[in-house]
Amino acid sequence: MTAPTSLLPVSTVAAPASLQLRNFIGGEHIDGVSAFAKLNPIDGSLIADVHEAGPDEVDRAVASARAAFDGPWGRMTVTERAGILRRIADAIERRFDDLVAAEVGDTGKPEALARDLDVARAAANFRAFADIVSAAGIDSFLTEFADGRRALNYAVRKPLGVVAVIVPWNLPLLLLTWKLAPALATGNTVVVKPSEETPSSATLLAEILMEAGVPAGVVNVVHGFGANSAGEYLTTHPGIDGVTFTGASETGSAIMRAVAPRVRPVSFELGGKNAAIVFADANLDAAVAGLARSTYLNTGQVCLCTERIYVERAIFDDVAAGLADHAARLRLGRPADPATTTGPLISQSHREKVLSYFHLAQTEGATILAGGGIPHLGDDLNGGSWIEPTLWTGLDNSHRTVREEIFGPVAALIPFDTEEEAIRLANDTDYGLAAVTWTSDLTRGHRVAQSMRVGMSWVNTWYLRDLRSPFGGVGLSGIGREGGQHSLDFYTEPTNVCVQL
Ligand code: NAD
Repeated sequence: MTAPTSLLPVSTVAAPASLQLRNFIGGEHIDGVSAFAKLNPIDGSLIADVHEAGPDEVDRAVASARAAFDGPWGRMTVTERAGILRRIADAIERRFDDLVAAEVGDTGKPEALARDLDVARAAANFRAFADIVSAAGIDSFLTEFADGRRALNYAVRKPLGVVAVIVPWNLPLLLLTWKLAPALATGNTVVVKPSEETPSSATLLAEILMEAGVPAGVVNVVHGFGANSAGEYLTTHPGIDGVTFTGASETGSAIMRAVAPRVRPVSFELGGKNAAIVFADANLDAAVAGLARSTYLNTGQVCLCTERIYVERAIFDDVAAGLADHAARLRLGRPADPATTTGPLISQSHREKVLSYFHLAQTEGATILAGGGIPHLGDDLNGGSWIEPTLWTGLDNSHRTVREEIFGPVAALIPFDTEEEAIRLANDTDYGLAAVTWTSDLTRGHRVAQSMRVGMSWVNTWYLRDLRSPFGGVGLSGIGREGGQHSLDFYTEPTNVCVQL
């Protein structure tokens, strides 16, 4: 795996030259106030020195986005912008291998996953929102009054202006483009703050956008951390007109406080503690394979991943044995190895957090059916942040391991006896992002899926997405929905015009 060539320039320091990732502001690579090391989660080696933006760089990025908003971008027709979005999708496909390399380098995820999920979805996001914005209508009402007057009411959509886009590390390019595509489609300009753990693909994408015809300043990228760093400088900046954020619930809470004095709109896609319910009438093989995917995909680091599995008692032992077998057969290894199914966690500090839950589960009385610790993969990989795919029984909803988001490759299996009990247990959480129901009784499938207190409820599948459908969560899992028309609603402000006829 080689580093993407366009990111290569440039250390003036003597060998070994390290990759320098700078901020991207007004179409130029801009130095930061300091630099931090981005390490490869595979083996702990250095990937890049990342230039951290200070208040001045963030200020410059917001000013650049404002100038671009006031320039040609803000006056473009929807058709012109949709055309640029389609060119961006084409450009992503031309630079597919470079983006895969950037994503795999930062995250350590299997190359096949980066290809099939992350980078493929990035192109799809731009195409989908080119179509969605092109087909969007406007509200209009012919209003009639008792005295015979008539009026035409219609709403026009206007972009918010300069939008702060703050994204996490788990699906860096996918989640960034999920927000960037509708923000651009509706005429906004943006300042992006990628995660400090995954700075590479965002920097490369900013260059690709310009190659595809996005004017300088429309998309700016600032690097850094959250509190007392680029994230906080951006969310407290008076020049931003809205914040779209994906990340942890406590960070959403901090961002809400940051924007409260200036009352800016927020869209929050936050954490989860997602449940699956498996009824005895489910197709057992399909359910076990589906649960393995929803628990262990991306090393459990997908916000939609299942961490609580409620199983009808009659099939509890079969599901437990089947899922433990799947977990044991997962292959941890290098991203380029086609046999690899599972990469490392994103960082040593995240591994410490996940391991602390592994220890807590033992204190809470868990029985470990699979994994439970750190694997030994050999000297060259022992510096990485590897962890074993893990499965527990013996816990219930009173335990912290079943209530708090772990964000790793682990789930607790819990038995139930009735449909009502399963619904009650699944909904017994402060989060509310996603749920899965496994059953062969489709009437029950609809009934249970609809009674889940979540944003997304799947039946006999997981993470099957239509980009026109609403995406988001309730409770600690978020505020608002994005996807299709819902994204257009967040990234625009309607102005109602009333004309007396
Ligand atoms: P995080 O909240 O720690 O960081 C996310 C981003 O916010 C990063 O860019 C970070 O630098 C920035 N940030 C942190 N503190 C900030 C502050 N005070 N002000 C401004 N910016 C700040 O989350 P993470 O660890 O990167 O990602 C994992 C979390 O994201 C999990 O909780 C996961 O469930 C959630 N997530 C949710 C979704 C969803 O769609 N609901 C999708 C993916 C991940």
